[in-house]
Amino acid sequence: MWFIFNYSIKNKSMKIIIHGGFFSESSQSNEVKLAKQNSLKDIAKKSYEFLKDNSAFDTVAYAVSLLEDDELYNAGIGSQIQSDGVIRMSAAIMNGETQKMSGVINIQDVKNPIFVAKELIKEDDRVLGGNGAKIYAAENGFEDFSTEIPQRRKEYEEKLKNGGKGTVGAVAIDKHGKLAVATSTGGKGFEIPGRISDSATVAGNYANQFCAVSCTGVGEDIVSNATAAKIVTRVTDGLTIENAFDRTFEELKEIDGFAGAIGIDSEGNIFHQDSYPTMVFASFDGIDFEVFE
Ligand code: ASP
Repeated sequence: MWFIFNYSIKNKSMKIIIHGGFFSESSQSNEVKLAKQNSLKDIAKKSYEFLKDNSAFDTVAYAVSLLEDDELYNAGIGSQIQSDGVIRMSAAIMNGETQKMSGVINIQDVKNPIFVAKELIKEDDRVLGGNGAKIYAAENGFEDFSTEIPQRRKEYEEKLKNGGKGTVGAVAIDKHGKLAVATSTGGKGFEIPGRISDSATVAGNYANQFCAVSCTGVGEDIVSNATAAKIVTRVTDGLTIENAFDRTFEELKEIDGFAGAIGIDSEGNIFHQDSYPTMVFASFDGIDFEVFE
């Protein structure tokens, strides 16, 4: 009997989807588009390889760290600069199985905010802001690291709001059918110091056993719409992932909201949607890639 039960456990197939924020045809060149397509494909593939021997939870942190390390995106290295000339970053991770989320809000001078967020999962106090997040990072071996690049300083000096759009995120399902999500951002660019992004909230980053979703776009719109939490709740209540995205994005229209989201449900269905062109994303299931065009 025991063996029969064991044999009946379904070995789910692994999948990963990642995003790198938005691409703007009007302000970004074809070269940047191609670079983002190639980088996303490469990171999706590397993360899928990693997923073979690791949990969805470890994999989304790994995938987001690779995106943070790539200057093309507005997270980690290459983060945007706020109105007072300072870079403050936010990141969160959520384990669908345990339903624990941890994150950092407005942290300065660490290379990979997502790894600080992940470190916090073991604590009772799991979301830290500003200086507290930085002190925690230092105490846990995260070295001082400037994530500023010359291109962002140039955009800041030219007062280009949203010059480097490109919050990053990852959603994965592992071979045991467990889901996880991670999201990391340098924010909107030029924000008032102290502004809080959606990325380290349940509106921008949410998962349970049924679904996991990561968002990008205008944080205020994502919070008003409670995008990630709503999609996940709708799938939990029985909607298909496609219908859950559709209904949530219909509601986003009521406020002319600017957002994009990626998700996977517990059956391994992958979905993505955006309210404005064009969210930058790639997914990989070990055989096929889907990459934004
Ligand atoms: N959602 C991020 C924020 O509002 C920005 C982005 O996704 O580009 O902080």
